[in-house]
Amino acid sequence: MQEYDVIVIGGGHAGCEAAAAAARFGAKTALVTQKIETIGVMSCNPAIGGLGKGHLVREIDALDGIMGKAADMAGIQFRVLNRKKGPAVHGLRTQADRKLYRLAVQKLLRETENLAMIEGEVIDLEITNDQISGVKLLSGELIQTKAAVLTNGTFLSGLIHIGQETYPAGRVGDEASIQLAQSLKRYGFKLGRLKTGTPARLNGKTIDYSVLERQEADDQPVPFSFMTSKIENPQIACYITRTNEVTHKLIQDNLHLSAMYSGKIEGVGPRYCPSIEDKIVRFGERDGHQIFLEPEGLDDDTVYPNGLSTSLPADVQEAFLRSIKGLENVEILRPGYAIEYDHFNPQELLSTLELKKLSGLFCAGQINGTTGYEEAAAQGLMAGANAALKAQNKPEFTLSRMESYIGVLIDDLISYGVTEPYRMFTSRAEYRLTVRADNADQRLTPKIIELGYIGEVRKIAFLEKCNNLHIIRNQLKSMMISPFEAEQKGLKINQDGIKKSAYEILSYPDYSMQDLIKLWPELSNINSAYIEDISTEAKYDVYTKRQKQEIDILQKEQNLIIPAELDIQSLSGISNELKQKIIKFQPKTIGAAAKIEGITSSALVLLAAHAHKIQDSNTMQQAGA
Ligand code: FAD
Repeated sequence: MQEYDVIVIGGGHAGCEAAAAAARFGAKTALVTQKIETIGVMSCNPAIGGLGKGHLVREIDALDGIMGKAADMAGIQFRVLNRKKGPAVHGLRTQADRKLYRLAVQKLLRETENLAMIEGEVIDLEITNDQISGVKLLSGELIQTKAAVLTNGTFLSGLIHIGQETYPAGRVGDEASIQLAQSLKRYGFKLGRLKTGTPARLNGKTIDYSVLERQEADDQPVPFSFMTSKIENPQIACYITRTNEVTHKLIQDNLHLSAMYSGKIEGVGPRYCPSIEDKIVRFGERDGHQIFLEPEGLDDDTVYPNGLSTSLPADVQEAFLRSIKGLENVEILRPGYAIEYDHFNPQELLSTLELKKLSGLFCAGQINGTTGYEEAAAQGLMAGANAALKAQNKPEFTLSRMESYIGVLIDDLISYGVTEPYRMFTSRAEYRLTVRADNADQRLTPKIIELGYIGEVRKIAFLEKCNNLHIIRNQLKSMMISPFEAEQKGLKINQDGIKKSAYEILSYPDYSMQDLIKLWPELSNINSAYIEDISTEAKYDVYTKRQKQEIDILQKEQNLIIPAELDIQSLSGISNELKQKIIKFQPKTIGAAAKIEGITSSALVLLAAHAHKIQDSNTMQQAGA
């Protein structure tokens, strides 16, 4: 009988990252999945990253994961979203060549030591003394293990809907995982139901691009991985079109045929990734919705119409698509569809993503109620790492929401559960000014260096980068100039007579390294590879210090009692929405208040300050009495 330390069930985005992490963290690992050739398949949109999601990919990369490297190997349209805003909320995204992405993931896994790939469907778990001890395959084979990670995505009792047609599947072309879902229910796990949808795939040769707006890739593609020095793939353009009144009327008239609107689907769908039916019903007053036409590959004519996810019948899909500019003669290669699937309540998980009720069984990805490749991969990495640590009787590895988006994701899931598919946004991270995509490696890579789970090449390159940044930072901090002198040389700064360092001047929003070179020409020798990093660091330095202070205060004040007489409504500096939540949950301590969804660190610091004020005045009154 085969025996492993960790078995990962499912070769999607969570499973691949879990398997790679478990193997990196020293466990003899097997990835068991229905079809080896579908490892790394992108079920829906051919893209990696985006707002909030790009941060997750950078963090996965900083922990030596595979998603960033695969995205760099497959990326065909790199763009930094939100570029006009500050770097903290930039969203790195790339359109990916679907085939190249799948092959890149498979290559990276094949190159991972300690990792075997097994084709097969897991239909049951072997449990001994309330602990996972093996998995059973459809073939009848039993594989023994010390820990397992479930990453079944949309496959558990998956049900596809196209109009009034319904059939079981994990996604189009793949079998649903029905027996495993039944086994899990037999063990007493309560599974909820969620849904998601995907648009039709179009034949690019039948699209009239000449009438459409072109969207180019960035001139200088920014890679996801610290280990990628250059993006090799040619960069392509996408095209933009819009729905119109005719499209809306066609959809409106056929709503009764949509699986989502005829009451056939009980699962809840992703609010932030709505179907076109949803958009028409909820925002019917709009005269059109933007659609991005995204090529699925360099040598593939398939086009993904981003923004047109639907569960209408195929003929209605064709009719509404052909009402859109540029798509008048479009041919559908595969209709869009909705899928319903079972998921766990993530509140049943520990922060390691291990199920509280079953020792050694970890869960990651869509199965935990999230949506998106990046969210899945981030959980996969943490679940795989912890499964490996558990199998080796080593201490767990977790990240807090103060230091990472991965921490925010897991804390949100296990603390609040999900009522709809959860996706990441920068707004979910209270510490987003310090927890940025550009410093992901500096925040997280030291942790895996300390644990010893990092490849030697990356470790050496990372330490060299840190050392170089340290030298540049010290150099900039040691160069001083008076405001008068700076003005003489053409740089206007506050004339307060106080000398400023080059680092301080770089922290001003309007000044860049180019401006500093006017004052100190020798700075033109600084290695250009580090200029952006050091400039962003300097610009956020003041926030970094402030947030560190807040974090220190909050860590100290966890057990501080919030006096019942504190009038939350009268506090200024806290939004009304947050006040209502605090009033509703009536937290007894600052630690309890910190658990309120959406609470900010500044609100907690304010609560702590007022709590102290009341305590002090009570003490004084008692002393006086
Ligand atoms: P998946 O990528 O689904 O992978 C699951 C893997 O597990 C597969 O390899 C499967 O073969 C394997 N597997 C399942 N059961 C077994 C078993 N019993 N034994 C062995 N192997 C098994 N995300 C968005 O962000 N936006 C969207 O609009 C969006 N739309 C989507 C539309 C559709 C139709 C689908 C199917 C998905 C959509 N997604 C969307 C979700 C996105 O695909 C997932 O979030 C992501 O793929 C989840 O990754 P995962 O690893 O959890 O699962």
